[in-house]
Amino acid sequence: ADNNILLKVGGLKVAYGGIQAVKGVSFEVRQGELVSLIGANGAGKTTTLKAVTGLQPVADGEIEYLGKSIKGQGAWDLVKQGLVMVPEGRGTFTRMTITENLQMGAYIRNDKAEILADIDKVFGIFPRLKERRNQLAGTMSGGEQQMLAMGRALMARPKVLLLDEPSMGLSPIMVDKIFEVVNDIHGQGVTILLVEQNASRALAAANRGYVMESGIVTMTGEGKHLLNDPKVRAAYLGE
Ligand code: ATP
Repeated sequence: ADNNILLKVGGLKVAYGGIQAVKGVSFEVRQGELVSLIGANGAGKTTTLKAVTGLQPVADGEIEYLGKSIKGQGAWDLVKQGLVMVPEGRGTFTRMTITENLQMGAYIRNDKAEILADIDKVFGIFPRLKERRNQLAGTMSGGEQQMLAMGRALMARPKVLLLDEPSMGLSPIMVDKIFEVVNDIHGQGVTILLVEQNASRALAAANRGYVMESGIVTMTGEGKHLLNDPKVRAAYLGE
C-alpha cells in the first residue's frame, strides 16, 4: 500500500432513487496534495464529496481513508478523524457571531487553550474575520461567509479539507481572495480536495486534477497539464 495516500475512492456509485448521479468514480488524494475535481453543472462532483464525507449513502464502490474503509461511517465520525468538508452554500450559523461559529468548528475538541490559539491562527489567515469577530454570521457578505466556513472547518484540524465550490457566486476580487487563501492553507501543509466549476483557477492551484462528466471521470493528470489540454480548454475554459 502507498502510505502517502490519505483518501482513495474506487468505483464509487451513488444514486438518488432510480437516478445514478455517480457511476463508478475512482480517484486518490495523497498527503500534502491539492487535488481539483472539475466538471460542468450536474456532473456529480457534489454528490461525490457527499458520499466521501458520509452525507450520502454509497450504492457501490470503496472509500478508504488513512488506509481503512470508511464506507457507511457517519459524517460526525469522519470529522473526528479529520475528514472535513466545507459545503456548497457554506452553512454558517447565521445567528451566531463569527467567534461563536469558529468555536463550533472545534466542538469535537476539548483542548481549550489550543482552540483559542487556533482561532488566532484563523484570524491570521482571515484578518477580515478578526475585524468582525462579534458580528452575526448572517449579516456578512457571501465572500465573508465563505471565509468563515473555511475558518470553521480549519478549527476541526482537518487532515483532508474538502471544499465544495468555494468561489461560487462571489465577485472577481473575492474569488481572487478565496484562491489566495486556498493556496495559503495548502502551503501550510493541509491536504485539499477542491471541487470547482471555475476550472482555470482550480487547475492552476492544483497538483493534480480530475475531470468529471455525467457521473464518471473522463480525464486526469497534473493540474498544469490539464490546464493546457486542448479538450479541457474547449470544454471548460471557453476556448
Ligand atoms: P453542481 O456544480 O451544479 O453542484 P455537481 O457536479 O456537483 O453540479 P451534483 O450536484 O452532484 O453535480 O448532481 C449530480 C446529479 O445528481 C444531477 O443530475 C442532480 O440533478 C442529481 N442530484 C443531486 N442531488 C440530488 C438529490 N438530492 N435528489 C435527486 N437528484 C439529485
